[in-house]
Amino acid sequence: MYHDLRDETDLPANLCVRAYSKALEAMKSTVADWKKGNSRPLPRFDKPSAVYDKRTLTIKDRSATLSTINGRVAVDYVLGDYQKSYLDDDDYEKRMGTLHYREGEDAFYLHIVIKKEVEERDGDKVLGVDLNLKNVAVTSTGSFYDGGDLLWGQNHYFRVRRILQHKGTRSAKQVLRRLSGRETRFVLNRLHTISRRIVEEADAHDCSYIAVERLTHIRERMDHQDDRVKRQLHNWAFRELQEMLEYKAAEYGIRVEHVPPAYTSQTCSKCGHRSSTNRDSDGWFECTDCGYEVDGDYNAAKNIGMTLLTLPSGERPGGLGDGHLALKSGTLNGNGNYTAYDTTSADRESTDKPTTSVVGRWPSRGRRENPAET
Ligand SMILES: [Zn+2]
Repeated sequence: MYHDLRDETDLPANLCVRAYSKALEAMKSTVADWKKGNSRPLPRFDKPSAVYDKRTLTIKDRSATLSTINGRVAVDYVLGDYQKSYLDDDDYEKRMGTLHYREGEDAFYLHIVIKKEVEERDGDKVLGVDLNLKNVAVTSTGSFYDGGDLLWGQNHYFRVRRILQHKGTRSAKQVLRRLSGRETRFVLNRLHTISRRIVEEADAHDCSYIAVERLTHIRERMDHQDDRVKRQLHNWAFRELQEMLEYKAAEYGIRVEHVPPAYTSQTCSKCGHRSSTNRDSDGWFECTDCGYEVDGDYNAAKNIGMTLLTLPSGERPGGLGDGHLALKSGTLNGNGNYTAYDTTSADRESTDKPTTSVVGRWPSRGRRENPAET
């Protein structure tokens, strides 16, 4: 195959090698899937891309040179602040890159793999996070990250797409193709912001662990009437969010742990009472036993963190030790013992009222006061 590539194209040797191994990898994972009994079509590469390595790509801070069929070509990047911050950080080793061509825009995108050695943090503090694109991402420290425009069906691109799909004409299809790229980038942008803010929240509270629920949960929370396309998009975005959260946390040496998603939304984070009637259809939580009232996702976020702390010793992370859940006003250990962050400070909050995050807004439900934590 390598020799065919060399004969049939003018590509430099290293690009042929990379193309060959990319195809091989795709084939291997497909065959592995077949062996497991899953049906899956033969892999196809519909969009033009090329994999570059150290010999074919030289990365500088604001430009790069690439091997091409016309020899070495120097290119400048269009960079956002986010990308600049990584390129300017000498701690990152810039490694391979993949060049993508976007037909609709007639533009090339270079995805660079960067690597940095980070030590995992010591410490036993956990941030519980309820990830749920349909509503918000909420932390046990009371930060709300509004899903807002992410919600499929409310997002502008999604609405336009629906209209075009009904039209079904050729020009509608062309617009659709361009739109799906824009929609994808719009959503990815929001997810990047949300995942970054969650990690910053964990860092601000000195947490070494972020507890989230296992992926399956999002499917249970989707409405039954939601259609297949919406479901697929939702699952895709949710997976992306989890992945982003993991690699962004890793940059800080924070570990993301997945806990089993049992009853986190039905259980009272204050008294532990579990009932299917604790949470109403609006997502508001009201304990039928102790009367604790709070936003349902916030209640779930605290339960998710607590689930990690109370896992049996074989299942919990080794470094977690006694473990403490980070709340807004203090911490809670696995036995439910509460420690305020600062008992002498005059501005200590006795109520664990959620704070509005920069990304989101506090959901307007009219009932804003939450009872004290302990
Ligand atoms: Zn209760």
